[in-house]
Amino acid sequence: MQPVRETTLEIDLHALTHNYRYLRAKIPSTTKFMGVVKAYAYGSDAQQIAKRLLKEGAEFLAVSYAEEGLALRRAGITAPILVFHPQKVHYSALIAHHLSPTLYSLRSLQEFIQEATLSKKEYYPVHLNLNTGMNRLGLNEEELDAALEMIKKTKAIQIEGIYSHLVASEDPMEKAFTRLQIERFERGAQHLIQGLPAVPLLHLCNTSGILNYPEAHFDMVRAGIGLYGYGNSPEQDQHLIPVASLKAPITRIHQLKKGDTVGYNRRYKAKEDSRIAVLPLGYADGLYRAYGNGKAAVWIQGKLAPLVGNICMGMAMVEVTAIPCEEGDEVLVFGPEHPAQRTARQAGTISYELITGISQRVKRVIKD
Ligand SMILES: *Cc1c(COP(=O)(O)O)cnc(C)c1O
Repeated sequence: MQPVRETTLEIDLHALTHNYRYLRAKIPSTTKFMGVVKAYAYGSDAQQIAKRLLKEGAEFLAVSYAEEGLALRRAGITAPILVFHPQKVHYSALIAHHLSPTLYSLRSLQEFIQEATLSKKEYYPVHLNLNTGMNRLGLNEEELDAALEMIKKTKAIQIEGIYSHLVASEDPMEKAFTRLQIERFERGAQHLIQGLPAVPLLHLCNTSGILNYPEAHFDMVRAGIGLYGYGNSPEQDQHLIPVASLKAPITRIHQLKKGDTVGYNRRYKAKEDSRIAVLPLGYADGLYRAYGNGKAAVWIQGKLAPLVGNICMGMAMVEVTAIPCEEGDEVLVFGPEHPAQRTARQAGTISYELITGISQRVKRVIKD
C-alpha cells in the first residue's frame, strides 16, 4: 500500500464488523444490541459506523447529545436512537426527529412530559436513567415513586427503557461494587415496572460489562469501545481489532549534533548525534501535549519512535536515530500494530481519550 501523503485517520469497517460480531456472540440471541456512536463514533465517523452497525443487525444507536442524533437523522438513519444527555433546550428538536431522550432527574421527567404534551404526543418513547452508584445522572431510589406518579398521570410518554451505568465494570477489584450496582438496578427497575402499563427494556452493560457480567445483560447491552477494537484487558484486546488507524507522513528530518535542542522551550536536548523526524499533527489534532517529552511513541517500520520535545499545535517531533526512515515515509500514531491503549497508557490516560480526541480537521478515509 502507498504511504499516506497527509495525516489520515483510516476507518476499517471490516474490523468494526469483526468486533460487532464478537460482542454480539457474547449475548443471548434475544438480547438487543445498542451501538454507541457518540463523539463521532469514538473519534471515527458516526454515519459510516452507524450504517454498518445497523446493517449488521444492531437494533438501537446511542449518542450523548441531541445534535449528534440530529446528524444521524439528516444522514437518513431511521433506527431508534437514544440520547444519553439531552437538555431541556433540545427537547422540541428531539421530538421533531424522533430521538429518545434519557430522563435523568425528576426535573427532566417533568419538563419532557410538558414538551411532549405541548407537541400532542402520545406514548413518546423515553428511557429512564437510574443512579446506582455513579452519582452522575439518574433518579435516586427515593425518587422512584414520585417519578411513577408523574408517568402514570400522562399519556404523552412511554417508558421504552430503564437503564443505569456501571462505574467499574472493567475492574476486577470492584466486583463487589459492580454486583451491588446490578442489585440496585434490578430492584429499582422492578419497582418501576410494577407501576407501569408496558414493560420497558432494561439495559445496564457497557463493553466491559458485556464481557465480565453475563448475568447482567438484561434486555439490551450498550457497546462502545469494544466496537472500536479496544477491550479493557489484554485478554479482551486479543479478540478485537482496532477500527481506526491514525497515520501521518514524515515531512522533514533533521540531523542533530550532540547538545542541539528540539522545539519550543528546548525541552529535548540531544545526548548524542541524532535524527529527528517531524509529523504534520499536533495537539489541535488530538495529539495532546501529555504525549510529548518522551511519554509516548509512534510506530515507524515496526519500531517505537518516542515523541520528543513539546508537541506543537500542528506538529510533533519524534526521535528516529536508530530507525532507517526517510522524508515521505509513513508513521502510525495508533492502529492495529500499535494500539491506542499503549500510547494512552504511557501518557497516563486511556484509549477512549486518545481515539475520541482526534479532531475533525484530520482527514477520514473509510476502508471497506
Ligand atoms: C459511553 C457509554 C457507553 C459505552 O461504554 P463503553 O465502555 O465504551 O462500551 C454505554 N453507556 C453509557 C451510558 C455511556 O455513556
